[in-house]
Amino acid sequence: MPPLWNMSLERSIGRPHRKPDGGLGLGSGAELILGLVYPPVCALCHQHRADRNQGYVCDACQGRVRRITEPCCRCCGIPFSGTIIGSQTCATCRKDSWAWDEARAAAIAEGVTLECIHRLKYQREPWFGTFLSGLMMEAALPRLIDHSWQGVVPVPLHRVKQREREFNQAERLAAPLAHALGVPLRTDLVRRREATSSQTSLSRKDRIGNMRTAFEPARTPQIHGSWILVDDVLTTGATTDGVAAVLKNLGAERVVVWAVARAILEIDLQPARQS
Ligand SMILES: [Zn+2]
Ligand SMILES: [Zn+2]
Repeated sequence: MPPLWNMSLERSIGRPHRKPDGGLGLGSGAELILGLVYPPVCALCHQHRADRNQGYVCDACQGRVRRITEPCCRCCGIPFSGTIIGSQTCATCRKDSWAWDEARAAAIAEGVTLECIHRLKYQREPWFGTFLSGLMMEAALPRLIDHSWQGVVPVPLHRVKQREREFNQAERLAAPLAHALGVPLRTDLVRRREATSSQTSLSRKDRIGNMRTAFEPARTPQIHGSWILVDDVLTTGATTDGVAAVLKNLGAERVVVWAVARAILEIDLQPARQS
């Protein structure tokens, strides 16, 4: 039996054409053409067989992904090394509070994973969306499937940026997850107020403050219940914090963040308390 997320792969291959329901996908004709144009070879190593259901990433390349496993911070999901005794929350989460309740990522943002993210985002190679959403769902679905969710919200791009890029990578990752969970993909709740400039020169506190004003509600009706927020990469957590704050203001009771990858310094892998 194919993995659960394969059911939604049709929606995540090809250039992002907006469907009336707000989802992403292609007609079967275009899908067929894509299959004829691209041979079933890995788009990364060009050595091994890989088909479109794998996002054209072969088993060997998929094996090079550094997946995040327990133990990790129960709040932000940052992986710990070694055995944890005492607090299961990292030093950052003990100090700060987030608008989201929990954040998790499937893999560390490096190597194969980061290359696929960059090639999806900047070179518009859509098949990597299939691979990356599959990677995220492999980790996310077991944790999400038994709960009741109101919907999945991708972190919005500013409309100018989205026009330039022609698609929002977070939406491409979120759509198959929403489909697999049988809940709506909601792109109508939050919008990006401004195209945020690079935040790398800002302190962590300033980044969070900056992102709290970068998003605004896109509509007034109230929402309720639990929501899933999706982004491609988690770095400081400030961007998702900004979106989660809007969702909470709209009435969401719980917001759980899922990302494909998490940017990490090797030094971060040391736990705050370790045996
Ligand atoms: Zn390969
Ligand atoms: Zn943490």
